[in-house]
Amino acid sequence: MNTSQTDSFGRTVDYLRISITDRCNERCLYCLPENYSNWLPRGEILAYDELLAIVKAAVSLGFKRFRVTGGEPLIRPGVVKFIRDLSVTPGVECVHLTTNGTLLPELAKPLFDAGLRRINISLDALDPAIYHAITNGDIAPVLHGIKLVKELGFESVKLNTVLMRGKNDGEIFRLLDFAAEHDIVIRFIELMPVSLTEMLSEKNFFPVTELLAKLQREDELEPLAKSFGVGPAKYFRLKKRGATMGLIGALSDLHFCERCNKMRLTCDGKLRPCLGNHLETDLKPALRPKIDTVRLLEFIRETLVQKPSEHLFRNNYQPQRVMTAIGG
Ligand code: SAM
Repeated sequence: MNTSQTDSFGRTVDYLRISITDRCNERCLYCLPENYSNWLPRGEILAYDELLAIVKAAVSLGFKRFRVTGGEPLIRPGVVKFIRDLSVTPGVECVHLTTNGTLLPELAKPLFDAGLRRINISLDALDPAIYHAITNGDIAPVLHGIKLVKELGFESVKLNTVLMRGKNDGEIFRLLDFAAEHDIVIRFIELMPVSLTEMLSEKNFFPVTELLAKLQREDELEPLAKSFGVGPAKYFRLKKRGATMGLIGALSDLHFCERCNKMRLTCDGKLRPCLGNHLETDLKPALRPKIDTVRLLEFIRETLVQKPSEHLFRNNYQPQRVMTAIGG
């Protein structure tokens, strides 16, 4: 068994999020600037065998959990086979997927058959017009996809809702009721200045601390010791509503980074030790022209050593890459 690595601050880091594409079939308000066209050339995107080589190297350093994300991971051809290959890679204990859910009507079953059991689906609103205003997309296939993954028996299905004042704060109770009705955990995520800073204005920002206070006035909230995921969300049971909710407060939770267990791989092969920091290591010299495992291991170890104690989001952080390329 490979021993988990700890970083310079004693945190166990055993979770890698892998962005497999920077492209998306939706354009969420908080993800991409309007008229964004700076897509990476295809040749810059890592091939699946390069991704699997990185996964094997990470496993040998103690990484156990892997999340496939993007951009929208399900638009990349070959994603189902990649999930299958990832799931059977020795030492990979958990494979997760984050998706906007739009392609689940076609892909939920093939993904399940490929071994996927854990899925997070982004759902920023239930009202079709509000959903469209935020994502530019159609909610119908997403709701169908959620129903399908529940029927197929995925072990973990979670909804992700990015909180935005004046955009979807009126949807919170509906979303909680929907989650309760379908027995799904819902996580509310604070806006982060990952791709754009303008969304972070006081006009849009809705802290999870405010949500907690709002819900405490309506319901009885029981903090849950059990974690429903592998990230830094804090979970609560809403006793009256019967919903289970996670709060991800990257800005308002001052202890957020103390529970950080992850690194991120961008779709063009940059390993990032922290979402809210520009530090990154280019793994391509260890992958091209041919895969050099010894160098890969060195790069991963060096990046882990650089993992900062906390993100820089509260320090007027200026994004240099869009979230879809980094992988949320
Ligand atoms: N396309 C997939 C999706 O929509 O779920 C995967 C990629 S998306 C970047 C992953 C997650 O990051 C989504 O749940 C999204 O809501 C969240 N996200 C993206 N930009 C964000 C931001 N600026 N602040 C907070 N969360 C964000």
